[in-house]
Amino acid sequence: MTAILSEETKLRDEIARVGKSIFDRGLTFGSTGNISARLSNGDLLMTPTNASLGNLDPARLSRFSAEGVHVDGDKPTKEAFLHQCMYCQQKLSGAVVHLHSTYAVAVSILADVDPEDVLPPLTAYYVMRVGSLPLVPYYPPGDVMLAEAVAERAKSSHAVLLANHGPVVAGKTLQDAQYATEELEETAKLFLLLHGRNLRPLTPEQRAALKP
Ligand SMILES: [Zn+2]
Repeated sequence: MTAILSEETKLRDEIARVGKSIFDRGLTFGSTGNISARLSNGDLLMTPTNASLGNLDPARLSRFSAEGVHVDGDKPTKEAFLHQCMYCQQKLSGAVVHLHSTYAVAVSILADVDPEDVLPPLTAYYVMRVGSLPLVPYYPPGDVMLAEAVAERAKSSHAVLLANHGPVVAGKTLQDAQYATEELEETAKLFLLLHGRNLRPLTPEQRAALKP
């Protein structure tokens, strides 16, 4: 019991620390964005609705049972299903980060991207941390069709981009999910900076050589 409690306390503190770091660097704003992480017993801790990631109270995080039932803590975010869809498809995930980060959202609004893989493989670190980025078609927030669409795209990738909305990224640990989300945001920024220029992304061979 003691071991479970200390694991949970550590994870609650880590969620608050990562949330503040993300908020302080302007990667999200207001009460947008949410973070979840899974305990070894399968329970999920998630940032609550209307909470700013910059000012999370570790003791008030929403907690879900392994079956997805809200069991304690503050009222969960309305976007809880985005996280649950990722865990459902990406079984080894220990954490999920969803942001409305500016550059990734900007790319999610472009009409002429490849919906199977939105960003080109510009750098090795993008390929290693994100890999591929399918676009989830636009649905209004909370629409049950959005959950189905996310689940469909998450079968093949631990990172998806919601059209006109933002990225949802799973990782084995919270640090993995955070770093992958940040890599995605920086690559979206590079992509927009390079707009109109001739690009030399990694070749299929270079990309394949980076896969584990
Ligand atoms: Zn959102």
